[in-house]
Amino acid sequence: LALVVGSYNHDYAWRVERAPSAGETLRGDAFRTAPGGKGFNQAVACARQGASTAFVAAIGTDAAGDGARRLAADEGIDAHWQVCGDAATGSACIVVEAGGQNRIIVALGANERLEPAFLRERANLFAAADVLLVQLENGIEATRAALDLAHAHGVLRVLNPAPVHAALDAALLARCDVVTPNESEFALLLERSGGARVDAATLGARDDAELHRLARGLGAASVVVTLGAHGCFVSHADAKLRGDAQPYYRIAAERADVVDTTGAGDAFSGALVAALLRGGDRPLRDAVVHANRCAALSTERRGAAEAMPRYADVTRRFG
Ligand code: ADP
Repeated sequence: LALVVGSYNHDYAWRVERAPSAGETLRGDAFRTAPGGKGFNQAVACARQGASTAFVAAIGTDAAGDGARRLAADEGIDAHWQVCGDAATGSACIVVEAGGQNRIIVALGANERLEPAFLRERANLFAAADVLLVQLENGIEATRAALDLAHAHGVLRVLNPAPVHAALDAALLARCDVVTPNESEFALLLERSGGARVDAATLGARDDAELHRLARGLGAASVVVTLGAHGCFVSHADAKLRGDAQPYYRIAAERADVVDTTGAGDAFSGALVAALLRGGDRPLRDAVVHANRCAALSTERRGAAEAMPRYADVTRRFG
C-alpha cells in the first residue's frame, strides 16, 4: 500500500490579456476549474500507475470539499478526509497572461489544519503501508507526525520537499529515506542547511560528482533531484541500502512533446512511489526510470492531476 499524506487544493484559473492593476476589473476568458494540491496530484499519479493508494488530507464543508471526495473515489483512491468546520478547502487562483506568465494565489485553508491526532488515530493505515509519501503543503507538525508514524511502523519514507517550508529542519530531512526536490527546492535546501549558495538554474549543467557532494550536505539518505529537461540525478549515502551499485548517477529526460509542465514534479514523485511498491532487482533505480517516463508523459497534457499518465500509457510508449 502507498500512503500519501498531503494537500488537496481546488484550482480556479483564468486567461487574461494582462493582469489587472489595483482597483481595475478586467474580463478574462477560458475559465478552468480543476483539482490540484501536491498531495492529491501525487496520489492520483501513484494510483494511475496501478498502486493501491490511500490518501489522508483535510478539506472544508464546502462544494470544493465535496468535489474532492468524488474525484478521489473516481480514481479508486482510499481517501481519509479530516473535515474542518472552520476552514475552507484549499484553493488556488491562477491568472495566466497572454504571454504565458502566471500569477498565483494559494490559500491552503483546511490543509494547514491537518491534525497529528487525526493521523495517529489512523495508525492502522501506517501499519498497512509499504511506502509513505509526504509534501510540505500542510502544517509542519502533521508532516512530522506522518514521518514519525511511518518510522515507527518501518515504512519507507519519501518526502517531496515542496514548497520549501521555513520550518523544514535537518531533523525532518534525516527522518526521510528518499527526498525528491526540484532544482530550486534543492538550491533552497542547500542554503538552509548552511551549505554553499548555488544558482538553481546552473544545477542541471553541473558535473555529477559535484551534485553528489552537494546532495550529501542535506542529511537525507537518498536524494533524487529532478532537473526538468535535464532529467534527474540520484545521490545515496549508502547505495547498497537502496539496491544500487553506484553512489550517484543521472538519468536523462525522455523526449516529450511538451505542452504544459505543471505537475511534472508531482507525476514524478507519485509514480516513483508506485514503482517502489513494485520492487525489483534495483528498486530505486528502476523506480526513478519509471518516474522519469511518467513525468515526461505528464508534460504532454494540460493540467496537473488530470494529466497524470496511466500504466498502460507508459508501456505503450516505452514498452
Ligand atoms: P517541477 O515540476 O517540480 O518543477 P521538474 O521541472 O524538475 O519538476 O520536472 C520533474 C520531472 O519531469 C523531470 O525530472 C523530468 O523527469 C520530467 N520533465 C520535466 N520537463 C521535461 C521535459 N521538457 N522533457 C522531458 N521530461 C521532462
